[in-house]
Amino acid sequence: MRLEGKTAIITGASRGIGRAIAIRFAQEGANLALIYASNDEAMRNVCNEVSQYGVKVESYKCDVSNYEEVSQTVKSVNETFGEVDILVNNAGVVRDGVAFSIKEEDFDLVVDTSLKGAFHMIKACYYGFIRRRYGKIINISSVSGIYGNAGQSNYSSAKAGLIGLTKSIAKELGVRNICCNAVAPGIIDTDMTSNISYDEKRLEAISLRRIGKPEDVANAVLFLASSESDYITGEVLKVDGNLAM
Ligand code: NDP
Repeated sequence: MRLEGKTAIITGASRGIGRAIAIRFAQEGANLALIYASNDEAMRNVCNEVSQYGVKVESYKCDVSNYEEVSQTVKSVNETFGEVDILVNNAGVVRDGVAFSIKEEDFDLVVDTSLKGAFHMIKACYYGFIRRRYGKIINISSVSGIYGNAGQSNYSSAKAGLIGLTKSIAKELGVRNICCNAVAPGIIDTDMTSNISYDEKRLEAISLRRIGKPEDVANAVLFLASSESDYITGEVLKVDGNLAM
């Protein structure tokens, strides 16, 4: 049990990668505060699924791009669970298109959810981590944030920003024994990628010749949330099967 007795907040936990992280953390004994945007039924299903591992779980409907909501939510989490040990900033959306066609509101939505949302969550949890002189923050970036990607100028900007945020927080909070790392997934099989088809030709760009499973990402996040990574901070761990973008 690598996370026995720890409390973790996971954003975007109702589906895809966030759901897989929630299940993996529960299997390792973590109590879970799960944040989602609007999909009540999906969130209920995840809560039922993780409950079978005997951990405490609560869900919170909260728009991470709104600081007031984030602040209230973290207060409620503290009242229910006490202090938080692990924060996973996973909530994200895409609004792809060539730069010329991307509307300002779609640029803002993508950046506000992934980047500002993570900043809000870190800010709301900041003093809790400092008081305890312990914390693990894991931000879910993307290979698009490392290499860039045509048709994703908004998303790449948000995900590259998240890497800057990760490195800055690692420097700022390292002295307090708080680690902050990023995970950069490649193409992972979730709702977000359900409209893309992967034929043989496309898979040739990936050394491992398959797209990733949410569980592939969850295992990397688990490592960065556990004591096995206590001397790692400010890193970006790619989980992409060696995708050449
Ligand atoms: P999904 O679209 O499957 O799930 C997105 C999750 O984010 C949902 O739980 C959704 O809640 C939540 N969410 C969206 N907006 C908000 C918001 N404003 N406030 C709170 N929660 C919100 O995405 P994935 O699982 O595929 O992606 C998870 C993360 O991984 C994202 O940050 C994504 O950018 C990143 N990523 C994904 C890759 C992939 O190939 N799938 C590749 C690289 C990175 P609800 O269900 O209520 O809508």
